[in-house]
Amino acid sequence: MTYSEQIKARYAASLMGNYGLPPVALREGEGRTVTDVDGNAYLDMIGGIAVSSLGHDHPALVEAVSVQAARLAHTSNLFLHEKEVELAEKLLDLWGNPGKVFLCNSGTEANEAALKLAILHGNATGKSRIVATENGFHGRSLGALSITGKAAIREPFEPLGREVVFVPYGDLDALKAAVDGTVAAVFLEPTQGETGIVPAPAGYLAGARALTAEHDALLVLDEIQSGFGRTGAWFAHHAEGIVPDVVTLAKGLGGGVPIGAVLATDATAALFAKGVHGSTFGGNPIACAASLAVIDTIEREHLFANVLALGEHLDARLLADPRVTEIRGQALWRGIGLSEPVAGEAVAHLIGLGVLANAPRPDTVRIAPPLTITRAELDAFCDKLLEALDEVLPLPGGRP
Ligand SMILES: *Cc1c(COP(=O)(O)O)cnc(C)c1O
Repeated sequence: MTYSEQIKARYAASLMGNYGLPPVALREGEGRTVTDVDGNAYLDMIGGIAVSSLGHDHPALVEAVSVQAARLAHTSNLFLHEKEVELAEKLLDLWGNPGKVFLCNSGTEANEAALKLAILHGNATGKSRIVATENGFHGRSLGALSITGKAAIREPFEPLGREVVFVPYGDLDALKAAVDGTVAAVFLEPTQGETGIVPAPAGYLAGARALTAEHDALLVLDEIQSGFGRTGAWFAHHAEGIVPDVVTLAKGLGGGVPIGAVLATDATAALFAKGVHGSTFGGNPIACAASLAVIDTIEREHLFANVLALGEHLDARLLADPRVTEIRGQALWRGIGLSEPVAGEAVAHLIGLGVLANAPRPDTVRIAPPLTITRAELDAFCDKLLEALDEVLPLPGGRP
């Protein structure tokens, strides 16, 4: 029995089964390479699901976290500390709109806070309905789950006690039919991540902004996966030139250290009066220091330019293969569509070839690698993906 097999057996015996048994037991990482407990190396093309924006063991992140841990690890919100102020100022600066920030520990928590803002807005204006999208994902807590469109993960916990209307994603007419004077808020992802990287058509977010403004409903954009570099920008919605009332962030924001954030315009942020909401760990000094290091490194190393250029290279490399039907998404946040529903098998083969990716749905391989990835590493991924496809979806007569 290898050590990997031993630790997996201990995992199965001691951790709950909600994730099944993960295929790889990791121990360390360096750059874009992670190594398992038996010393096997893998190219990390999924980045802990769009989280490890600087890769692994990045000196800037290690330094920021170490220095802050040694200086002051925790204050609670009874007392403030400088890093939360610096981070909030920086986030508003990157957003480019006047507003205020609430800091928390995860994406789900950010959406819980956004949901509370929506409820308070509804209470103040006499509305209770919330509109969200089919197949959307906003988190697993009962509030965030109530606006999550993925029925398979929501239905076991119903009733969730909230009046939510789910509309088909990306369909502005359906949104128009659903949003009227009884709607307190509309929750949207600029691109649906967990559904396999499904971007909204151009104009959808701008249409949603006009519609919600007309009916005095909040527009809440969940940028937990799409934000912080995934599309080659700080915020995916900047491309549509709109200002939502609320934006939620997490995942890449901390580069691997847990943190979430809610950004809101001044009028909406004012709904959080003293005592309305809180979190003991939210805005923790170590997490804020990590996030500031992520922002600084993205700027200093021009990482958005890197992923935008490499995204074009990915298209050129993979779209030439007839088994790749489309590559959705932007930069290096991509859903690679396959001609047959073999993504799960392809991902399993990739692991055998030393590459980590995932299959959010049967016909799609998702990648969300560290923004620091090099062209040579991306080429290695393309080679290995085609090699895996040769196993699970061989071309008659072989690859040209
Ligand atoms: C991951 C994700 C969440 C939930 O974030 P957690 O940190 O897992 O709680 C919410 N919304 C979107 C769009 C996500 O991708």
